[in-house]
Amino acid sequence: LQEHIVKSTPARYSSTQACLENDISGTDNKGFKGHDMLAPFTAGWQSTDVDPLIIEKSEGSHVYDMQGRRYLDTLAGLWCTALGGNEPRLVDAATKQLNTLPFYHSFWNRTTKPSLDLAKELLDMFTAKKMAKAFFTNSGSEANDTQVKLVWYYNNALGRPNKKKFIARAKAYHGSTLISASLTGLPALHQNFDLPAPFVLHTDCPHYWRYHLPGETEEEFSTRLAKNLEDLILKEGPETIAAFIAEPVMGAGGVIPPPATYFDKIQAVVKKYDILFIADEVICAFGRLGTMFGSDKYNIKPDLVSLAKALSSAYMPIGAVLVSPEVSDVIHSQSNKLGSFSHGFTYSGHPVACAVALEAIKIYKERNMVERVNRISPKFQEGLKAFSDSPIIGEIRGIGLILATEFMNNKSPNDPFPPEWGVGAYFGAQCQKNGMLVRVAGDTIMMSPPFVVTPEELDELISIYGKALRETEKRVE
Ligand code: PLP
Repeated sequence: LQEHIVKSTPARYSSTQACLENDISGTDNKGFKGHDMLAPFTAGWQSTDVDPLIIEKSEGSHVYDMQGRRYLDTLAGLWCTALGGNEPRLVDAATKQLNTLPFYHSFWNRTTKPSLDLAKELLDMFTAKKMAKAFFTNSGSEANDTQVKLVWYYNNALGRPNKKKFIARAKAYHGSTLISASLTGLPALHQNFDLPAPFVLHTDCPHYWRYHLPGETEEEFSTRLAKNLEDLILKEGPETIAAFIAEPVMGAGGVIPPPATYFDKIQAVVKKYDILFIADEVICAFGRLGTMFGSDKYNIKPDLVSLAKALSSAYMPIGAVLVSPEVSDVIHSQSNKLGSFSHGFTYSGHPVACAVALEAIKIYKERNMVERVNRISPKFQEGLKAFSDSPIIGEIRGIGLILATEFMNNKSPNDPFPPEWGVGAYFGAQCQKNGMLVRVAGDTIMMSPPFVVTPEELDELISIYGKALRETEKRVE
């Protein structure tokens, strides 16, 4: 395997594109090597030495590259195109809004109808706990940065200037702006960026398979993690801890559903010390887990909620923060004292993005998307989990329409393949060669297909996965 993949630095082992160029037939997008973009989450050598995969068109659950090759897009873009690649109603909603009012802002109590309608819609929809206000951003990262500012503003208003620290979790993904990257618990987002910021602490990643002690049940594991969280709070001083942030199911950190009783126990600790709970629903919301929100699935009663991605099915960039009445009342009276709530973005509540989000939500409801996810997800989950016996797979985990496969030597969480074997990248390259795109992160492969994925497309997905797995097994043996 090594000789097929190695170029010159270990980082190259993780590149699916490098595998394709070295090992398969190349992507023949000639002329785009050494392009002008400082590309997100891309190594310098990748953009100089390897042709990018250039996607030109999308249709349902598929995307097409410049050569017209068709790929099943199993990550729905970046966990976001919930309604697939060509929903005409979203295009119409955007076009209509662009033709009427392409832009107006929401500062100084001036605003637009779509943003008011979307705020009302989101507050009505989120029923896990009553929410009082919605604040709009352009992205999930901005939503989480906004959360930190709201919480600080709230505690300053309450005369608690020392209650400012945040607790997030190892392997969390909360975004890549300065503060959201600090909340993120992945070393790659901290390294060389002088992060995390000092007010952010990280507690345990709730990955039972990887971190449980011998003989420990899921419930006992959850109890231990809640105890560790409490110990951390006590060590730092509860009067210094402002908020705890968690994704209901961890996404980019490796698709990690919580172990049994985890959120019950964590919420009890957080509540005990008057710490706000922020649910980062950027991936989980709008049906991906088989409930409208991840908070519904795990009985989470958050004080604040972050939304983005499927909010507009990614057709327009938009994020949102939902704020409980307890928090928004304090913010309201403090802004009266100060004369303004001085936070916002030019594009907060952008009318076109809000119009598209309203239409996306209308479609989720009209087409019973939650019910649809529940109907089709067993095929996805069971179809892929049937490969769990593979000697190179450590764990396949997921829920609803989100799933990860982790390749491991000897099926052990503690026995990774040598990185220079590039097992995950090789698997990803085999998928791509067979017309399917997956997310490769080291030796973890992640998928979150659009909610509109059909049973036939799931057959295609499972079949390509099987082929890629057999090829990868052959190379590793
Ligand atoms: N929060 C979660 C859970 C995410 O998965 C992401 C992105 O993947 C973000 C926040 C950041 O969102 P954005 O990339 O829109 O800034």
